[in-house]
Amino acid sequence: MTPPDLTRLAAFVARLDALVARSPTEADLLVEGKALLGALVGSDDWLPDAYARSDPNRYQQYLLYRDPEDRFSVVSFVWGPGQATPVHNHTVWGLIGVLRGAELSQAFEIGGDRLRPAGPERRLTPGQVEAVSPSIGDIHRVANAFDDRASVSIHVYGADIGKVERSTFDAAGRPKRFVSGYAPVAPPVLALEQTL
Ligand code: FE
Repeated sequence: MTPPDLTRLAAFVARLDALVARSPTEADLLVEGKALLGALVGSDDWLPDAYARSDPNRYQQYLLYRDPEDRFSVVSFVWGPGQATPVHNHTVWGLIGVLRGAELSQAFEIGGDRLRPAGPERRLTPGQVEAVSPSIGDIHRVANAFDDRASVSIHVYGADIGKVERSTFDAAGRPKRFVSGYAPVAPPVLALEQTL
């Protein structure tokens, strides 16, 4: 079997690194980051199987890359049939690009003592990217659009998301602290210096 070609992921990380290093405004970072992530998830020929395995009990989060200075992280989310996140926030900017299958994404806002949907549910298909952040809307719930097969999306966050204290929310909008973890699979080794 030919080993998976990690060039595409390495090029994405190198370009994102260069973008973040320029310290753009968040608006510029999200626009340019969306284009970079859109290009990455526009073809589904690069993600090694080790980072695309679903689990019958829970959606999986595989770390693909963590910036040495924790300025950003890249994670493969694998949804088993029918799996969904709780309603949650991020506290940092985030980009979500669908690689395989489809996702349903619903934004929320907290008003009074109630959590209420903000806008319609969106269906994201391969190649599509959406953004979250405290300044543009940071609370959402994401679900696999399929109940009979896995979906995979690539998430990018403006920190090591595995260290960020953030919250899930109940129907009354009450926060509960959580820190997300990574599946126990070592991230791929990327040849970053060869790519730009
Ligand atoms: Fe999220």
